[in-house]
Amino acid sequence: MSCVFACARRFGDSGVAKAAIRVSSVGGVERGFKVIVCRACEDPPCAAACPTGALAKRKDGGVLLNPSKCIGCGNCVDACPIGAVMWDEEANKPIICVHCGICASYCPYDVIKLVR
Ligand code: SF4
Ligand code: SF4
Ligand code: SF4
Repeated sequence: MSCVFACARRFGDSGVAKAAIRVSSVGGVERGFKVIVCRACEDPPCAAACPTGALAKRKDGGVLLNPSKCIGCGNCVDACPIGAVMWDEEANKPIICVHCGICASYCPYDVIKLVR
């Protein structure tokens, strides 16, 4: 969970609620875990589903969020095929990965990597 905590700390949050990355079990310790994080789609369905243009396509893949345009409809959450749009309950807006790579730098096992 180092990656998850590292991402949440970007917002000064000590828990996991503000993280744009999640780690979940795929059914017991033997089967392992999966990391859910934005894969930077070249043609992002999350942005296509946004009715206000709050999500703009990012140059190197993925999207950028303009919070002032977001109406909190949640369409982007439903549109992401891998469930990588997390939700900020406090702000009632999505948590969008900005591809900073901080999470990867905190993984001691080289499971994740930022590729540009
Ligand atoms: S929650 Fe915000 S960013 Fe997501 S689809 Fe709705 S308006 Fe767009
Ligand atoms: S949040 Fe999901 S749909 Fe949007 S760019 Fe990332 S992986 Fe693709
Ligand atoms: S790349 Fe940055 S924003 Fe995206 S999940 Fe990792 S730490 Fe969070």
